[in-house]
Parts: sequence; C-alpha cells; structure tokens
Amino acid sequence: LANRAFHPEDTVVDVSGVKVGSGNMAYIAGPCSVETYEQVLSIAKDIKAAGANMLRGGAFKPRTSPYSFQGLGPEGLDILCAVKEEVGLPIVTELMSPEYLDVFNEKVDLIQIGARNMQNFDLLKQLGQVDRPILLKRGLNATYEEWIMSAEYIMASGNENVILCERGIRTFETYTRNTLDLQSVPVLRKLTHLPVIIDPSHAGGKWWLVDSMAKASVAAGADGLMIEVHNNPEAALCDGAQSLKPEKYSELLKDVKQIADII
Ligand code: PEP
Ligand code: MN
Repeated sequence: LANRAFHPEDTVVDVSGVKVGSGNMAYIAGPCSVETYEQVLSIAKDIKAAGANMLRGGAFKPRTSPYSFQGLGPEGLDILCAVKEEVGLPIVTELMSPEYLDVFNEKVDLIQIGARNMQNFDLLKQLGQVDRPILLKRGLNATYEEWIMSAEYIMASGNENVILCERGIRTFETYTRNTLDLQSVPVLRKLTHLPVIIDPSHAGGKWWLVDSMAKASVAAGADGLMIEVHNNPEAALCDGAQSLKPEKYSELLKDVKQIADII
C-alpha cells in the first residue's frame, strides 16, 4: 500500500486542515515535553508567530532511564488541548500505549509513534482503528525496508494517512546523538508515495546542528520539519541541549521557507 509502484502520485495527508506532502510543508515545533500550561502556551504563541503550522509536545515520554522525567501523562495532554484552544495550532504528540488510543483519537490531530515503538506491531495494528493521521518515526536502527513495513502495518490495518519522519540513526559516531540520514528523503520518495519529514533535533542532539541540518533537509526535498523549541532550554526537563530558543527558530524558519520555495 505504501509502494510508489502502485501509487505513482504523492500522497497528501490532511492534519485537521493542514496539508502535508507534494509541496505542502509541515512545520512542527514545540518542546520535547509538556511541562506547564504557561510553558507550552508561551512556546506555541512564539512558534505560530514564526510561521509554524503544528505544535508538538510530549505528554507520555519514552525515556531511556526510568529515573528521568516520564512526562505528565493525561494531564500533559489536557495542557496541549487547552493551548490548542487558545492558539489554534493542530497538536502532535506521542502515543506509547493502546490504553490511550480512544483519548488520542478524540483529542490529538497527528498521532506520533516514536522511534522506540516503530516495531511495536500490536500498537501499529491498532492504529487502523483511529481516524487521525499518524506520524511514524524511524526506529533507532531500522532499515528503509523495515520502516516502510511498519507503515504498511498501519495502512493494512485500515489507516492510510501516514507521514514518515527521519530522526537520525545509530552509527559508530558518538559525538552526535544520532546520525541524520539525509539520503532517506530521496530514497523514500522513490520507494513510497508517503510524505517524509525530518527531525534534526533528535538526529544531532545539539541545538547548533539544527539550523544547517534543517536547511539541508528541505533542500533535499523533505515535506517538512519537526523541531524542538523551548523558551528556557537550560531548564528544560528533557532535551534542552537540542532545543532552539524561539528567536532562533523564527530566523531559521524564514530561511527554510525561502529554500522550500525554490525546491
Ligand atoms: C520525540 O519526538 O519526542 C521523541 C521521543 O523522538 P524519537 O522517538 O524520535 O526519539
Ligand atoms: Mn525530545
């Protein structure tokens, strides 16, 4: 179902009115984790003014250590919904367990499946039951074929609205958090008709790498970007080191939009 051979034209996914794919760009930004209402509201206003068209924020966090901040859970989701009411941006947040499938279906505009759950096949199969589009991040060490097969699981179960997100892969290099695989954009474009976006924040793990990698991603033909933005990165409960301040994000998006216009 995801194969370009049987579906030559690009798929355009509609996220509560925001179109993604075939030249329509997704500019998703926001904090790694939802911390407080005031935090998310402040960031949401800034990224909207900068030109973003979706707000991200994790309420359920897949942390490597059980002792790290695990996210606010349902309360975090309520905060995102309240900010959505106030600011009017569609929300993107990660689903980790089928337990919250119905709540997400009701409240979340774009349901994110994180790298660590890319091959959680039971979870993927259940996504056929939701009407919301899915943002499927690439697994930490998934091949293109494995990643596409995971999209296939969602599509075969009845939900064909899938956006793929490259977020860096594990390589021998340890200086950066992961290694951004820019080749994934042209390769996936060849193999599938689904929109492909890039998350340069989790790829590099350092805020100063985001600018160049975001521009390169759009130049490579990505259908959008997911970027972590925090109003006080030094105090962020998660991923502060890779988060841009709102002013930096605003400057970056101006350049990125110019690049997108000539691609
Ligand atoms: C995230 O986007 O917050 C996240 C946890 O990303 P990933 O699943 O790519 O690590
Ligand atoms: Mn993060």
